[in-house]
Amino acid sequence: MNEVDATPQAGNAPWTCPFCPLLCDSFGVDIGPPGAPLALTGSDCPRARGALAHFSGEPVAARPQVDGREGDIDSALAAAASLLARSRQPLFGGLGTDVAGARALYALACDTGAICDPAEGRSLMRSLRALQDRGGFSTTLAEVRTRADLIVCMTEMPDAHYPEFFRRCGVGEREDLQVEDLPVHGDLFDTVALLAALVAGRIGTHESRVPAELVALSLRLREARYAVLVYEPGRLPAQGALIIEGIQRIVATLNRSTRAASLSLGGGDGAATVNQVFAWLSGLPLRSRAGPSGLEHEPLCFDAERLLADGAVDMLLWVSSFGPEPAPPPAELPRIVLGHPGMRVPAAIASNAGSVFIPVSTPGIGAAGHLFRTDGSVLMPLRALYDDGLPSVGEVLLRLRQALHASRGGKQ
Ligand code: SF4
Repeated sequence: MNEVDATPQAGNAPWTCPFCPLLCDSFGVDIGPPGAPLALTGSDCPRARGALAHFSGEPVAARPQVDGREGDIDSALAAAASLLARSRQPLFGGLGTDVAGARALYALACDTGAICDPAEGRSLMRSLRALQDRGGFSTTLAEVRTRADLIVCMTEMPDAHYPEFFRRCGVGEREDLQVEDLPVHGDLFDTVALLAALVAGRIGTHESRVPAELVALSLRLREARYAVLVYEPGRLPAQGALIIEGIQRIVATLNRSTRAASLSLGGGDGAATVNQVFAWLSGLPLRSRAGPSGLEHEPLCFDAERLLADGAVDMLLWVSSFGPEPAPPPAELPRIVLGHPGMRVPAAIASNAGSVFIPVSTPGIGAAGHLFRTDGSVLMPLRALYDDGLPSVGEVLLRLRQALHASRGGKQ
């Protein structure tokens, strides 16, 4: 059971939505009659509505499973500890959890030498790579709302994936805040490089080979009081870190004479939060492990998809607490899944590999918790809407670690 404030919330009381990294905190949830899906109030955000449909506001009947057979949590933890103890190189994937879950994951990863990579690891690594290589100027949603006068959408309109984005920025409320879309000519890399050259004055705005729309945008950026360049790492192609570096080049140039910043939209489903926690506990981001030769960070080699395809890991621990997706990949490995009770765990695994499924609570729905917002510096508290009767990821991992230590005779 959760050791959290699971006090039922009044229907229209403020609630922090955990279903995308904007973490909107001005909407409510209606808990209807037993069995009815939760309903969002104050917004018609399709992403939140779709996610809330997976919760019914009453205790969950789902039970842990070992090799497809239902049992109690103690048996499931013992089986999971046995799988972990036998593994020579575990992989922790998904990583859909909050701060407390991430802290527990880190401790277990250190005990087992596990490699950790979130479900959208490639997207997260693009941002990290650019930050490591070049650094960057970034801003917060609050600053965009209060100070920016120009938002430039560098990777298409963000409201398709982040429906409340423009409302959060105050678009439509302030007359002086304008939104521009990047006119892409050729590919995105060429377009960003050309825009960077125009903004820096390395190409004349009267050169005929330069698209007029791009010239107009460069002038608009130079005239803006405070421009914010918004991008989604998840929409970038392979080697997208180079595009992020190009965006940061534009921002840095503008900051010589005016004010500008970038805003990255990504790191949902706990990815950014787990990355922050691992960074503050170890000094390294994800795609790291505490191995035999100490801490190792391998941003390319520790790609979960690659490790699974190469057969470089022999066990998978998958964590996904925000909804039935993302489900674990259908790898033929022993695996432990801590997931939403409605998750369909793919059947395509070796029948004798060993499989444990433990349903867990969702932060912000059945459990309290904390998540980092997309702007990185804001940690939002999440409040439980009702008691779903499920343990949190952090609680399960704590007990799993204890069971693992017990199976090793108390040795860590
Ligand atoms: S935009 Fe994101 S955080 Fe806001 S209500 Fe929709 S899903 Fe939730």
